[in-house]
Amino acid sequence: MAKLFGTNGIRGVFGQDFTLEFIHDITLSIAEYFKEGPIIVGYDGRDTSPIIAKVVCSTLNYAGLDCNNAGLNPTPCLEYATKKLGYTGGIMITASHNPPQYNGIKPIASDGVEISREDELVIEDIYFTKKWKNDSSKFGSTKEENSTIKEYFDGIKSQVDSSKIIEKKFKVVLDLGNGAQSVTASKLCEELGCQVFTINEKIDGLFPGRGSEPTPENLSELSDTVKKTGADFGIAFDGDGDRSLFCDNKGIILTGDKSALLLAKYILEKNPKATVVTCLNSGSSIEKIAARSNAKVVRTKVGSVEVSRKMLLTNAVIGFEENGGFMFGKHNQVRDGAMTMALVLELLAKTDKTMSELIDDLPPSFTTKTKISCSRDDVQKIINKLNEDHPDSDTTDGIKITFDEQNWVMVRPSGTEPIIRVYAEGNSKENLEKLISEHVQKIKSILNR
Ligand code: MG
Repeated sequence: MAKLFGTNGIRGVFGQDFTLEFIHDITLSIAEYFKEGPIIVGYDGRDTSPIIAKVVCSTLNYAGLDCNNAGLNPTPCLEYATKKLGYTGGIMITASHNPPQYNGIKPIASDGVEISREDELVIEDIYFTKKWKNDSSKFGSTKEENSTIKEYFDGIKSQVDSSKIIEKKFKVVLDLGNGAQSVTASKLCEELGCQVFTINEKIDGLFPGRGSEPTPENLSELSDTVKKTGADFGIAFDGDGDRSLFCDNKGIILTGDKSALLLAKYILEKNPKATVVTCLNSGSSIEKIAARSNAKVVRTKVGSVEVSRKMLLTNAVIGFEENGGFMFGKHNQVRDGAMTMALVLELLAKTDKTMSELIDDLPPSFTTKTKISCSRDDVQKIINKLNEDHPDSDTTDGIKITFDEQNWVMVRPSGTEPIIRVYAEGNSKENLEKLISEHVQKIKSILNR
């Protein structure tokens, strides 16, 4: 099992477990893994990101690799540029939605997707055995890379019917969450003919607006602004701009599952018999939607890397996570907030219905999640006890206790924070609330023993 890599790259508190010395050593390990450059380096809007980028670039150069610093970019923009501009690899400096004191490093393969779990272990092995190159006979150099955003916009626009979207002159509210999509999403919307209203648009590593992680609970300003402006919809991005949560025209915040169903229905109608990849913790309605188009659903462990890599293997058109991570395989097999936004614009451009009406057409689904603070040691205790009570459960990833197709609870440790997450689906709102509160109570009582 990986010791440094979590669900999504390596993250830590800058200056504590994520020190300059650690960044130097892990970059030497990544350089040894990539073997040759050029490597593209980019970062999110955290205060510590530019400092880390300098260490990463210098270390790559010391190891003999050329690199190009692309500066502030959303993660999906850097990932797309890695592939499109023909880099040997990329390094994204981000802790995504973690609190401000965190930062992290995410290596990207030449195919534009985060490296596989197997390759994470290769890098860890180099790190722990210090098997990196230590002769400094040939140094690399660092240049700037200024074309990532243009390439990203061209790539996204080539995947949608831009002229149809422009015709509709949509009104859109963007909650940029003080994060990295601030440099891209508004401009892309304007290029697609939208009237744009923005919230929390100033890049700020302290994420003073509503925090770095959009959740249905912290998006009231987005909801109010959508209602006040009469917008067609609203969208909120996370700190590094790969995840997106939507707000319909009535101001209702959708779960990531709900917006993914909406897009899946639209995309699968155009791509029958396609493959959809999603994690074990998303709701069961995707199987119903897929069946209508003879599409196939493949389930993976939780984590975007699992979904991305499975999409590549199965040539899937869609991948998604319940947290608002949506992937469109024809563009890139990664979560991409701006690509997802463009797909929603196209979907609305091709119908006379409002987003709220389109949601009403979906099969009813009730999913939710919550989190409980929990040390690493307690995680196994909780999972073991739940497994004792439900021995037939799926323990591929934490534990998924299934009562029937539409009623289940899944408990798993977070890969990025000292918490345990509890996910549930119910066949009604009441049953869902009952399921989640019963299990949260049960977990708390196990913790208190
Ligand atoms: Mg993110």
